[in-house]
Amino acid sequence: MAEPEQVDVVVVGLGVGGEEVAGRLAEAGLSVVGIERNLVGGECPYWGCIPSKMMIRAANALAEARRVDGLAGTAQVRPDWAPVAKRIREEATDTWNDRVAVERFTGRGGRFVRGSGRLEGPGRVRVGDQVFQARYGVVLGTGTRPAVPPIDGLAGTPYWTNREAIEVEELPESLLVLGGGAIGLELSQVFARFGVRVTVVEAMDRVLAVEEPEASEVAAAALRADGVEIHTGVRAERVDHDGERFTLRGAGGVEFTGERLLVVTGRRAHLDELGLDTVGVDASQRYLPVDDRMQVTDGLWAVGDVTGEGAFTHVAMYQAAIVIADLLDRARHARAGADPSGTASVVGGAMGAASALSASGSSGSAGTVPRADYRALPRVTFTDPEVGAVGLTEEQARARGINVQVGFSKLADSTRGWIHRVGDEGFIKVVADADQGVLIGATSVGPAGGEVLSGLVVAVHGAVPVSQLRHMIYAYPTFHRAIEAALGNLH
Ligand SMILES: Cc1cc2nc3c(=O)[nH]c(=O)nc-3n(C[C@H](O)[C@H](O)[C@H](O)COP(=O)(O)OP(=O)(O)OC[C@H]3O[C@@H](n4cnc5c(N)ncnc54)[C@H](O)[C@@H]3O)c2cc1C
Repeated sequence: MAEPEQVDVVVVGLGVGGEEVAGRLAEAGLSVVGIERNLVGGECPYWGCIPSKMMIRAANALAEARRVDGLAGTAQVRPDWAPVAKRIREEATDTWNDRVAVERFTGRGGRFVRGSGRLEGPGRVRVGDQVFQARYGVVLGTGTRPAVPPIDGLAGTPYWTNREAIEVEELPESLLVLGGGAIGLELSQVFARFGVRVTVVEAMDRVLAVEEPEASEVAAAALRADGVEIHTGVRAERVDHDGERFTLRGAGGVEFTGERLLVVTGRRAHLDELGLDTVGVDASQRYLPVDDRMQVTDGLWAVGDVTGEGAFTHVAMYQAAIVIADLLDRARHARAGADPSGTASVVGGAMGAASALSASGSSGSAGTVPRADYRALPRVTFTDPEVGAVGLTEEQARARGINVQVGFSKLADSTRGWIHRVGDEGFIKVVADADQGVLIGATSVGPAGGEVLSGLVVAVHGAVPVSQLRHMIYAYPTFHRAIEAALGNLH
Protein backbone atom coordinates (compact mmCIF):
# COMPACT_ATOMS: atom_id res chain seq x y z
CA MET A 1 0.00 0.00 0.00
CA ALA A 2 1.60 3.26 -1.17
CA GLU A 3 2.11 6.01 1.43
CA PRO A 4 0.15 9.12 0.37
CA GLU A 5 2.32 11.96 -0.80
CA GLN A 6 1.44 15.39 0.61
CA VAL A 7 0.76 18.12 -1.94
CA ASP A 8 -1.28 21.33 -1.85
CA VAL A 9 -3.87 20.62 -4.55
CA VAL A 10 -4.81 17.70 -6.79
CA VAL A 11 -6.74 18.36 -10.00
CA VAL A 12 -8.39 15.36 -11.66
CA GLY A 13 -9.08 15.91 -15.37
CA LEU A 14 -7.06 18.51 -17.26
CA GLY A 15 -9.65 19.67 -19.77
CA VAL A 16 -10.32 23.35 -20.29
CA GLY A 17 -11.39 23.92 -16.69
CA GLY A 18 -8.96 21.60 -14.90
CA GLU A 19 -5.91 22.75 -16.86
CA GLU A 20 -6.67 26.38 -16.12
CA VAL A 21 -7.13 25.73 -12.39
CA ALA A 22 -4.05 23.52 -12.10
CA GLY A 23 -1.82 25.80 -14.17
CA ARG A 24 -2.80 29.03 -12.42
CA LEU A 25 -2.45 27.52 -8.94
CA ALA A 26 0.96 26.11 -9.82
CA GLU A 27 2.01 29.51 -11.15
CA ALA A 28 0.89 31.05 -7.85
CA GLY A 29 3.36 28.83 -6.02
CA LEU A 30 1.23 25.93 -4.79
CA SER A 31 2.39 22.35 -5.26
CA VAL A 32 -0.16 21.03 -7.74
CA VAL A 33 -0.60 17.56 -9.17
CA GLY A 34 -2.62 17.47 -12.41
CA ILE A 35 -4.00 14.09 -13.47
CA GLU A 36 -5.23 13.44 -17.01
CA ARG A 37 -5.98 10.09 -18.54
CA ASN A 38 -6.28 11.20 -22.12
CA LEU A 39 -5.15 14.52 -23.66
CA VAL A 40 -4.32 17.64 -21.63
CA GLY A 41 -6.70 20.34 -22.89
CA GLY A 42 -9.71 18.02 -23.05
CA GLU A 43 -12.51 17.92 -25.58
CA CYS A 44 -12.46 21.53 -26.77
CA PRO A 45 -9.10 21.68 -28.57
CA TYR A 46 -9.04 18.10 -29.87
CA TRP A 47 -12.63 17.08 -30.69
CA GLY A 48 -14.80 20.11 -29.88
CA CYS A 49 -14.83 23.87 -30.24
CA ILE A 50 -11.60 24.45 -32.11
CA PRO A 51 -11.57 21.80 -34.83
CA SER A 52 -15.34 22.12 -35.33
CA LYS A 53 -14.96 25.88 -35.80
CA MET A 54 -12.14 25.27 -38.31
CA MET A 55 -14.55 23.04 -40.22
CA ILE A 56 -17.24 25.73 -40.02
CA ARG A 57 -14.86 28.43 -41.22
CA ALA A 58 -14.08 26.33 -44.30
CA ALA A 59 -17.72 25.45 -44.94
CA ASN A 60 -18.77 29.10 -44.60
CA ALA A 61 -16.11 30.11 -47.13
CA LEU A 62 -17.77 27.73 -49.58
CA ALA A 63 -21.18 29.18 -48.79
CA GLU A 64 -19.96 32.73 -49.29
CA ALA A 65 -18.40 31.79 -52.63
CA ARG A 66 -21.73 30.31 -53.67
CA ARG A 67 -23.32 33.68 -52.86
CA VAL A 68 -21.17 35.47 -55.41
CA ASP A 69 -23.74 34.75 -58.11
CA GLY A 70 -26.16 37.64 -58.24
CA LEU A 71 -23.99 39.88 -56.05
CA ALA A 72 -20.60 40.04 -57.70
CA GLY A 73 -20.42 37.94 -60.85
CA THR A 74 -20.00 34.20 -60.90
CA ALA A 75 -17.89 31.78 -58.91
CA GLN A 76 -17.29 28.10 -59.31
CA VAL A 77 -16.76 26.18 -56.11
CA ARG A 78 -15.12 22.77 -55.88
CA PRO A 79 -15.10 21.65 -52.25
CA ASP A 80 -12.12 19.66 -51.05
CA TRP A 81 -12.03 18.21 -47.55
CA ALA A 82 -8.29 17.47 -47.63
CA PRO A 83 -7.09 20.95 -46.50
CA VAL A 84 -9.66 20.97 -43.68
CA ALA A 85 -8.58 17.55 -42.39
CA LYS A 86 -4.93 18.59 -42.72
CA ARG A 87 -5.48 21.82 -40.79
CA ILE A 88 -7.26 19.93 -38.00
CA ARG A 89 -4.46 17.40 -37.81
CA GLU A 90 -1.53 19.78 -38.08
CA GLU A 91 -2.69 23.11 -36.62
CA ALA A 92 -5.46 22.26 -34.17
CA THR A 93 -4.54 18.93 -32.66
CA ASP A 94 -0.93 18.07 -33.51
CA THR A 95 -2.42 14.75 -34.69
CA TRP A 96 -4.10 14.39 -31.29
CA ASN A 97 -0.88 14.70 -29.36
CA ASP A 98 -0.76 16.79 -26.17
CA ARG A 99 3.03 17.11 -25.75
CA VAL A 100 2.83 20.91 -26.04
CA ALA A 101 -0.03 21.12 -23.56
CA VAL A 102 1.80 18.93 -21.03
CA GLU A 103 4.89 21.11 -21.35
CA ARG A 104 2.73 24.21 -20.94
CA PHE A 105 1.44 22.83 -17.65
CA THR A 106 4.78 21.62 -16.30
CA GLY A 107 6.34 24.90 -17.47
CA ARG A 108 3.97 26.68 -15.11
CA GLY A 109 5.29 24.56 -12.24
CA GLY A 110 2.66 21.81 -12.18
CA ARG A 111 3.42 18.13 -11.76
CA PHE A 112 1.76 15.98 -14.40
CA VAL A 113 0.56 12.42 -13.93
CA ARG A 114 -1.00 10.46 -16.79
CA GLY A 115 -3.76 8.16 -15.62
CA SER A 116 -7.26 7.94 -14.14
CA GLY A 117 -7.70 9.69 -10.82
CA ARG A 118 -10.12 8.44 -8.21
CA LEU A 119 -10.98 9.76 -4.75
CA GLU A 120 -10.08 7.56 -1.80
CA GLY A 121 -11.41 9.74 0.99
CA PRO A 122 -11.34 13.46 1.81
CA GLY A 123 -8.43 15.14 0.01
CA ARG A 124 -7.02 11.81 -1.12
CA VAL A 125 -6.66 10.74 -4.76
CA ARG A 126 -5.27 7.56 -6.22
CA VAL A 127 -3.83 7.32 -9.72
CA GLY A 128 -2.36 3.93 -10.53
CA ASP A 129 0.07 3.07 -7.74
CA GLN A 130 0.40 6.65 -6.55
CA VAL A 131 -1.71 8.22 -3.82
CA PHE A 132 -1.76 11.95 -3.14
CA GLN A 133 -3.11 13.73 -0.07
CA ALA A 134 -4.10 17.33 -0.79
CA ARG A 135 -3.59 19.91 1.96
CA TYR A 136 -6.04 22.45 0.56
CA GLY A 137 -8.30 20.61 -1.82
CA VAL A 138 -9.15 18.38 -4.74
CA VAL A 139 -10.68 19.74 -7.93
CA LEU A 140 -12.68 17.54 -10.30
CA GLY A 141 -12.73 18.73 -13.90
CA THR A 142 -13.60 15.42 -15.49
CA GLY A 143 -16.04 16.69 -18.13
CA THR A 144 -18.54 14.57 -19.99
CA ARG A 145 -18.63 11.92 -22.68
CA PRO A 146 -21.22 11.45 -25.44
CA ALA A 147 -24.55 10.14 -24.15
CA VAL A 148 -25.49 7.30 -26.47
CA PRO A 149 -29.18 6.37 -26.23
CA PRO A 150 -30.16 2.72 -25.64
CA ILE A 151 -31.61 2.21 -29.11
CA ASP A 152 -32.06 -1.40 -30.21
CA GLY A 153 -29.17 -2.52 -32.40
CA LEU A 154 -27.08 0.65 -31.99
CA ALA A 155 -24.43 -0.73 -29.63
CA GLY A 156 -21.86 -2.66 -31.56
CA THR A 157 -22.36 -0.76 -34.83
CA PRO A 158 -19.53 1.53 -36.04
CA TYR A 159 -21.50 4.70 -35.34
CA TRP A 160 -19.70 8.02 -34.99
CA THR A 161 -19.67 10.40 -32.08
CA ASN A 162 -18.20 13.90 -32.36
CA ARG A 163 -14.73 12.32 -32.18
CA GLU A 164 -14.93 10.32 -35.41
CA ALA A 165 -16.72 13.22 -37.12
CA ILE A 166 -13.85 15.56 -36.24
CA GLU A 167 -11.15 13.03 -37.16
CA VAL A 168 -12.65 12.09 -40.55
CA GLU A 169 -10.23 12.36 -43.48
CA GLU A 170 -12.48 11.11 -46.26
CA LEU A 171 -16.08 12.24 -46.28
CA PRO A 172 -18.85 9.69 -46.67
CA GLU A 173 -21.38 10.04 -49.47
CA SER A 174 -24.25 10.22 -46.96
CA LEU A 175 -24.62 10.79 -43.23
CA LEU A 176 -27.47 10.22 -40.80
CA VAL A 177 -27.33 12.57 -37.84
CA LEU A 178 -29.20 11.50 -34.73
CA GLY A 179 -29.82 14.67 -32.71
CA GLY A 180 -30.70 18.18 -33.85
CA GLY A 181 -28.99 20.14 -31.08
CA ALA A 182 -26.15 22.63 -31.50
CA ILE A 183 -23.41 20.09 -32.26
CA GLY A 184 -25.63 18.09 -34.62
CA LEU A 185 -26.64 21.15 -36.61
CA GLU A 186 -23.14 22.62 -36.83
CA LEU A 187 -21.64 19.38 -38.14
CA SER A 188 -24.61 18.68 -40.44
CA GLN A 189 -24.26 22.02 -42.17
CA VAL A 190 -20.51 21.62 -42.56
CA PHE A 191 -20.76 18.18 -44.15
CA ALA A 192 -23.69 19.21 -46.38
CA ARG A 193 -21.69 22.17 -47.67
CA PHE A 194 -18.92 19.76 -48.61
CA GLY A 195 -21.37 17.68 -50.63
CA VAL A 196 -22.41 14.97 -48.15
CA ARG A 197 -26.10 14.01 -48.29
CA VAL A 198 -27.14 14.68 -44.67
CA THR A 199 -30.33 13.60 -42.89
CA VAL A 200 -31.04 14.89 -39.39
CA VAL A 201 -33.41 12.90 -37.17
CA GLU A 202 -34.61 14.65 -34.00
CA ALA A 203 -37.03 13.35 -31.38
CA MET A 204 -38.27 16.78 -30.26
CA ASP A 205 -40.72 18.66 -32.44
CA ARG A 206 -38.05 21.15 -33.49
CA VAL A 207 -34.28 21.40 -33.85
CA LEU A 208 -32.34 23.53 -31.32
CA ALA A 209 -35.20 22.84 -28.94
CA VAL A 210 -33.61 24.69 -26.00
CA GLU A 211 -33.60 27.99 -27.90
CA GLU A 212 -36.43 30.28 -29.06
CA PRO A 213 -38.79 28.63 -31.60
CA GLU A 214 -38.04 31.42 -34.09
CA ALA A 215 -34.35 30.46 -33.92
CA SER A 216 -35.21 26.81 -34.59
CA GLU A 217 -37.18 27.88 -37.67
CA VAL A 218 -34.39 30.00 -39.13
CA ALA A 219 -31.74 27.34 -38.43
CA ALA A 220 -33.86 24.56 -39.96
CA ALA A 221 -34.59 26.66 -43.06
CA ALA A 222 -30.88 27.48 -43.48
CA LEU A 223 -29.88 23.82 -43.25
CA ARG A 224 -32.62 22.79 -45.66
CA ALA A 225 -31.34 25.41 -48.09
CA ASP A 226 -27.96 23.64 -47.87
CA GLY A 227 -29.67 20.38 -48.83
CA VAL A 228 -29.99 18.86 -45.33
CA GLU A 229 -33.12 16.75 -44.79
CA ILE A 230 -34.59 17.38 -41.34
CA HIS A 231 -37.09 15.08 -39.66
CA THR A 232 -38.37 16.24 -36.28
CA GLY A 233 -40.69 14.44 -33.85
CA VAL A 234 -39.12 11.10 -34.81
CA ARG A 235 -38.17 8.79 -31.96
CA ALA A 236 -35.47 6.38 -33.16
CA GLU A 237 -36.39 2.77 -32.33
CA ARG A 238 -33.84 0.61 -34.08
CA VAL A 239 -30.50 0.86 -35.83
CA ASP A 240 -29.02 -1.73 -38.21
CA HIS A 241 -25.69 -1.81 -40.00
CA ASP A 242 -25.18 -4.29 -42.85
CA GLY A 243 -21.46 -3.77 -43.13
CA GLU A 244 -21.86 -0.85 -45.55
CA ARG A 245 -24.89 1.20 -44.63
CA PHE A 246 -26.87 2.20 -41.59
CA THR A 247 -30.64 1.96 -41.43
CA LEU A 248 -32.38 3.93 -38.74
CA ARG A 249 -36.00 3.09 -38.04
CA GLY A 250 -38.29 5.46 -36.19
CA ALA A 251 -41.68 5.19 -34.51
CA GLY A 252 -44.50 4.93 -37.04
CA GLY A 253 -42.44 2.90 -39.51
CA VAL A 254 -40.25 5.69 -40.91
CA GLU A 255 -36.85 4.58 -42.16
CA PHE A 256 -33.66 6.42 -43.12
CA THR A 257 -30.41 5.12 -44.56
CA GLY A 258 -26.89 6.51 -44.71
CA GLU A 259 -23.31 5.40 -45.14
CA ARG A 260 -22.44 6.75 -41.70
CA LEU A 261 -24.42 7.48 -38.54
CA LEU A 262 -23.41 10.33 -36.23
CA VAL A 263 -24.91 10.16 -32.73
CA VAL A 264 -25.06 13.57 -31.05
CA THR A 265 -27.83 13.22 -28.52
CA GLY A 266 -26.20 15.05 -25.61
CA ARG A 267 -23.38 14.39 -23.15
CA ARG A 268 -23.15 12.62 -19.81
CA ALA A 269 -20.90 12.93 -16.78
CA HIS A 270 -19.58 9.64 -15.42
CA LEU A 271 -19.65 10.25 -11.68
CA ASP A 272 -19.54 6.57 -10.81
CA GLU A 273 -15.83 6.44 -11.77
CA LEU A 274 -14.68 9.09 -9.31
CA GLY A 275 -14.87 7.41 -5.89
CA LEU A 276 -17.37 10.01 -4.69
CA ASP A 277 -18.83 7.62 -2.11
CA THR A 278 -15.55 7.91 -0.19
CA VAL A 279 -16.32 11.60 0.48
CA GLY A 280 -20.06 11.14 1.11
CA VAL A 281 -21.24 12.46 -2.27
CA ASP A 282 -24.00 10.68 -4.18
CA ALA A 283 -22.54 9.36 -7.44
CA SER A 284 -25.93 8.49 -8.94
CA GLN A 285 -26.67 12.14 -9.73
CA ARG A 286 -26.56 13.38 -13.34
CA TYR A 287 -23.99 16.06 -12.56
CA LEU A 288 -21.96 17.20 -9.56
CA PRO A 289 -23.94 19.93 -7.81
CA VAL A 290 -21.75 22.83 -6.68
CA ASP A 291 -22.36 25.95 -4.63
CA ASP A 292 -21.60 29.43 -5.95
CA ARG A 293 -17.88 28.97 -5.12
CA MET A 294 -17.85 25.69 -7.06
CA GLN A 295 -17.56 23.60 -3.90
CA VAL A 296 -19.12 20.14 -3.92
CA THR A 297 -18.34 19.54 -0.29
CA ASP A 298 -15.67 20.82 2.07
CA GLY A 299 -12.29 20.48 0.37
CA LEU A 300 -13.74 19.30 -2.94
CA TRP A 301 -14.37 21.61 -5.91
CA ALA A 302 -15.71 20.89 -9.40
CA VAL A 303 -15.29 22.83 -12.61
CA GLY A 304 -16.64 22.68 -16.17
CA ASP A 305 -19.12 20.36 -17.84
CA VAL A 306 -19.23 17.97 -14.86
CA THR A 307 -21.12 20.63 -12.88
CA GLY A 308 -24.05 20.68 -15.33
CA GLU A 309 -24.17 24.49 -15.30
CA GLY A 310 -23.68 24.78 -19.07
CA ALA A 311 -21.47 22.65 -21.31
CA PHE A 312 -19.36 25.47 -22.71
CA THR A 313 -15.70 26.31 -22.60
CA HIS A 314 -16.51 29.82 -21.43
CA VAL A 315 -18.45 28.38 -18.47
CA ALA A 316 -15.48 26.14 -17.56
CA MET A 317 -13.12 29.15 -17.73
CA TYR A 318 -15.49 31.36 -15.72
CA GLN A 319 -15.84 28.69 -13.05
CA ALA A 320 -12.09 28.05 -13.05
CA ALA A 321 -11.46 31.68 -12.07
CA ILE A 322 -13.75 31.21 -9.06
CA VAL A 323 -12.11 27.93 -8.01
CA ILE A 324 -8.65 29.50 -8.28
CA ALA A 325 -9.63 32.48 -6.14
CA ASP A 326 -11.35 30.27 -3.55
CA LEU A 327 -8.46 27.81 -3.27
CA LEU A 328 -5.88 30.59 -3.05
CA ASP A 329 -7.98 32.20 -0.36
CA ARG A 330 -8.04 28.92 1.57
CA ALA A 331 -4.28 28.44 1.12
CA ARG A 332 -3.58 32.01 2.20
CA HIS A 333 -5.66 31.65 5.38
CA ALA A 334 -4.16 28.27 6.19
CA ARG A 335 -0.61 29.49 5.69
CA ALA A 336 -1.23 32.74 7.55
CA GLY A 337 -2.49 30.60 10.47
CA ALA A 338 0.60 28.40 10.33
CA ASP A 339 2.90 31.38 9.81
CA PRO A 340 1.58 34.42 11.76
CA SER A 341 4.43 36.55 10.39
CA GLY A 342 2.55 36.49 7.08
CA THR A 343 5.66 35.82 5.01
CA ALA A 344 4.44 32.51 3.60
CA SER A 345 5.20 32.44 -0.10
CA VAL A 346 1.67 31.79 -1.28
CA VAL A 347 0.44 35.12 0.15
CA GLY A 348 2.09 37.01 -2.67
CA GLY A 349 0.79 34.53 -5.19
CA ALA A 350 -2.70 34.63 -3.76
CA MET A 351 -2.96 38.39 -3.80
CA GLY A 352 -1.41 38.50 -7.25
CA ALA A 353 -3.97 36.06 -8.58
CA ALA A 354 -6.83 37.83 -6.81
CA SER A 355 -5.96 41.16 -8.36
CA ALA A 356 -5.42 39.51 -11.74
CA LEU A 357 -8.95 38.16 -11.42
CA SER A 358 -10.47 41.51 -10.65
CA ALA A 359 -8.43 43.12 -13.42
CA SER A 360 -9.77 40.57 -15.90
CA GLY A 361 -13.31 41.64 -15.09
CA SER A 362 -14.32 38.83 -12.78
CA SER A 363 -16.93 39.87 -10.25
CA GLY A 364 -15.54 40.51 -6.80
CA SER A 365 -12.62 42.64 -5.78
CA ALA A 366 -9.06 41.80 -4.83
CA GLY A 367 -9.02 39.60 -1.76
CA THR A 368 -12.65 38.48 -2.06
CA VAL A 369 -13.83 35.36 -3.83
CA PRO A 370 -16.22 35.98 -6.72
CA ARG A 371 -19.48 34.01 -6.73
CA ALA A 372 -20.91 32.20 -9.73
CA ASP A 373 -23.87 33.88 -11.38
CA TYR A 374 -25.33 32.33 -14.54
CA ARG A 375 -28.11 34.87 -15.24
CA ALA A 376 -26.28 36.16 -18.29
CA LEU A 377 -24.89 32.88 -19.60
CA PRO A 378 -24.26 33.30 -23.34
CA ARG A 379 -24.36 30.45 -25.84
CA VAL A 380 -23.75 30.40 -29.57
CA THR A 381 -24.60 27.76 -32.14
CA PHE A 382 -22.17 28.36 -34.98
CA THR A 383 -24.45 27.49 -37.84
CA ASP A 384 -24.75 29.98 -40.69
CA PRO A 385 -26.66 32.06 -39.66
CA GLU A 386 -25.29 31.91 -36.12
CA VAL A 387 -27.73 31.53 -33.25
CA GLY A 388 -26.61 33.49 -30.20
CA ALA A 389 -28.63 33.59 -27.01
CA VAL A 390 -28.29 34.83 -23.45
CA GLY A 391 -30.35 34.38 -20.30
CA LEU A 392 -33.94 33.16 -20.44
CA THR A 393 -36.07 32.37 -23.47
CA GLU A 394 -39.61 33.78 -23.56
CA GLU A 395 -41.06 30.40 -22.55
CA GLN A 396 -38.64 29.98 -19.64
CA ALA A 397 -39.40 33.50 -18.41
CA ARG A 398 -43.18 32.94 -18.59
CA ALA A 399 -42.80 29.59 -16.79
CA ARG A 400 -41.18 31.51 -13.92
CA GLY A 401 -44.24 33.72 -13.62
CA ILE A 402 -42.35 36.83 -14.73
CA ASN A 403 -44.40 39.68 -16.23
CA VAL A 404 -42.83 39.28 -19.67
CA GLN A 405 -42.58 41.69 -22.57
CA VAL A 406 -41.10 40.62 -25.91
CA GLY A 407 -39.59 42.63 -28.76
CA PHE A 408 -38.72 41.23 -32.18
CA SER A 409 -37.02 42.58 -35.26
CA LYS A 410 -35.96 40.83 -38.48
CA LEU A 411 -32.44 41.49 -39.75
CA ALA A 412 -33.75 41.74 -43.33
CA ASP A 413 -35.74 44.79 -42.23
CA SER A 414 -32.58 46.59 -41.09
CA THR A 415 -30.51 48.63 -43.53
CA ARG A 416 -27.54 46.31 -43.09
CA GLY A 417 -29.66 43.23 -43.67
CA TRP A 418 -31.09 44.76 -46.85
CA ILE A 419 -27.59 45.63 -48.09
CA HIS A 420 -26.29 42.15 -47.19
CA ARG A 421 -29.14 40.55 -49.16
CA VAL A 422 -28.32 36.84 -49.69
CA GLY A 423 -27.50 35.25 -46.33
CA ASP A 424 -29.25 37.94 -44.28
CA GLU A 425 -31.62 35.55 -42.49
CA GLY A 426 -31.95 36.31 -38.81
CA PHE A 427 -33.54 38.42 -36.12
CA ILE A 428 -33.17 39.93 -32.68
CA LYS A 429 -35.60 38.90 -29.99
CA VAL A 430 -35.47 40.49 -26.56
CA VAL A 431 -37.27 39.27 -23.45
CA ALA A 432 -37.86 41.85 -20.72
CA ASP A 433 -39.07 41.71 -17.15
CA ALA A 434 -41.69 44.44 -17.43
CA ASP A 435 -41.85 45.00 -13.66
CA GLN A 436 -38.08 45.47 -13.30
CA GLY A 437 -37.67 47.27 -16.65
CA VAL A 438 -34.65 45.16 -17.65
CA LEU A 439 -33.81 42.49 -20.22
CA ILE A 440 -33.64 38.97 -18.83
CA GLY A 441 -32.94 37.20 -22.10
CA ALA A 442 -32.23 37.79 -25.75
CA THR A 443 -31.56 35.94 -28.99
CA SER A 444 -29.46 37.18 -31.87
CA VAL A 445 -29.62 35.19 -35.09
CA GLY A 446 -27.75 36.31 -38.17
CA PRO A 447 -24.50 36.25 -40.15
CA ALA A 448 -22.71 37.63 -37.08
CA GLY A 449 -25.30 36.54 -34.51
CA GLY A 450 -22.70 35.45 -31.96
CA GLU A 451 -20.82 38.74 -32.16
CA VAL A 452 -23.95 40.91 -32.04
CA LEU A 453 -24.92 38.97 -28.92
CA SER A 454 -22.23 40.63 -26.82
CA GLY A 455 -24.16 43.90 -26.39
CA LEU A 456 -27.17 41.92 -25.23
CA VAL A 457 -25.02 39.98 -22.75
CA VAL A 458 -23.86 43.26 -21.22
CA ALA A 459 -27.49 44.42 -21.00
CA VAL A 460 -28.63 41.25 -19.19
CA HIS A 461 -25.50 40.93 -17.04
CA GLY A 462 -25.55 44.56 -15.95
CA ALA A 463 -29.38 44.75 -15.68
CA VAL A 464 -29.17 47.92 -17.75
CA PRO A 465 -32.61 49.61 -17.70
CA VAL A 466 -34.51 49.18 -20.99
CA SER A 467 -35.10 52.95 -20.96
CA GLN A 468 -31.32 53.44 -21.17
CA LEU A 469 -30.87 50.82 -23.87
CA ARG A 470 -33.48 52.62 -25.95
CA HIS A 471 -31.52 55.86 -25.73
CA MET A 472 -28.14 54.49 -26.73
CA ILE A 473 -26.56 55.32 -30.07
CA TYR A 474 -26.34 52.27 -32.37
CA ALA A 475 -23.82 52.58 -35.22
CA TYR A 476 -25.25 52.79 -38.71
CA PRO A 477 -25.55 50.51 -40.69
CA THR A 478 -24.65 47.59 -38.40
CA PHE A 479 -26.56 44.38 -37.81
CA HIS A 480 -26.79 45.32 -34.14
CA ARG A 481 -29.09 48.23 -34.97
CA ALA A 482 -31.78 45.53 -35.07
CA ILE A 483 -31.48 45.50 -31.26
CA GLU A 484 -32.78 49.07 -31.17
CA ALA A 485 -35.66 48.09 -33.44
CA ALA A 486 -36.53 45.08 -31.23
CA LEU A 487 -36.44 47.27 -28.10
CA GLY A 488 -38.72 49.70 -29.89
CA ASN A 489 -41.51 47.16 -30.25
CA LEU A 490 -41.37 45.57 -26.78
CA HIS A 491 -44.93 44.74 -25.77
C1 LIG B 1 -18.22 19.03 -31.17
C2 LIG B 1 -18.19 19.99 -30.00
C3 LIG B 1 -18.16 21.34 -30.25
C4 LIG B 1 -18.10 22.23 -29.19
N1 LIG B 1 -18.08 23.57 -29.46
C5 LIG B 1 -18.05 24.44 -28.45
C6 LIG B 1 -18.01 25.84 -28.71
O1 LIG B 1 -18.01 26.27 -29.87
N2 LIG B 1 -17.96 26.69 -27.65
C7 LIG B 1 -17.96 26.24 -26.37
O2 LIG B 1 -17.93 27.06 -25.45
N3 LIG B 1 -18.00 24.92 -26.08
C8 LIG B 1 -18.05 24.02 -27.10
N4 LIG B 1 -18.05 22.68 -26.80
C9 LIG B 1 -18.08 22.25 -25.39
C10 LIG B 1 -16.67 22.25 -24.78
O3 LIG B 1 -15.82 21.41 -25.52
C11 LIG B 1 -16.76 21.80 -23.33
O4 LIG B 1 -17.67 22.62 -22.65
C12 LIG B 1 -15.41 21.87 -22.63
O5 LIG B 1 -14.48 21.03 -23.25
C13 LIG B 1 -15.59 21.47 -21.17
O6 LIG B 1 -14.35 21.46 -20.53
P1 LIG B 1 -14.15 20.57 -19.22
O7 LIG B 1 -12.83 20.97 -18.69
O8 LIG B 1 -15.33 20.64 -18.34
O9 LIG B 1 -14.16 19.06 -19.73
P2 LIG B 1 -13.40 18.29 -20.90
O10 LIG B 1 -12.90 19.19 -21.95
O11 LIG B 1 -14.34 17.20 -21.30
O12 LIG B 1 -12.14 17.66 -20.16
C14 LIG B 1 -12.28 16.72 -19.15
C15 LIG B 1 -10.98 15.92 -19.08
O13 LIG B 1 -11.00 15.08 -17.92
C16 LIG B 1 -10.38 13.86 -18.26
N5 LIG B 1 -10.83 12.88 -17.28
C17 LIG B 1 -12.09 12.44 -17.05
N6 LIG B 1 -12.12 11.62 -15.99
C18 LIG B 1 -10.84 11.51 -15.56
C19 LIG B 1 -10.23 10.80 -14.48
N7 LIG B 1 -10.95 10.06 -13.63
N8 LIG B 1 -8.89 10.91 -14.32
C20 LIG B 1 -8.15 11.67 -15.18
N9 LIG B 1 -8.68 12.36 -16.20
C21 LIG B 1 -10.01 12.29 -16.37
C22 LIG B 1 -10.82 13.57 -19.68
O14 LIG B 1 -9.93 12.69 -20.32
C23 LIG B 1 -10.80 14.98 -20.28
O15 LIG B 1 -9.58 15.27 -20.91
C24 LIG B 1 -18.10 21.75 -27.86
C25 LIG B 1 -18.12 20.37 -27.60
C26 LIG B 1 -18.16 19.49 -28.65
C27 LIG B 1 -18.19 18.02 -28.35
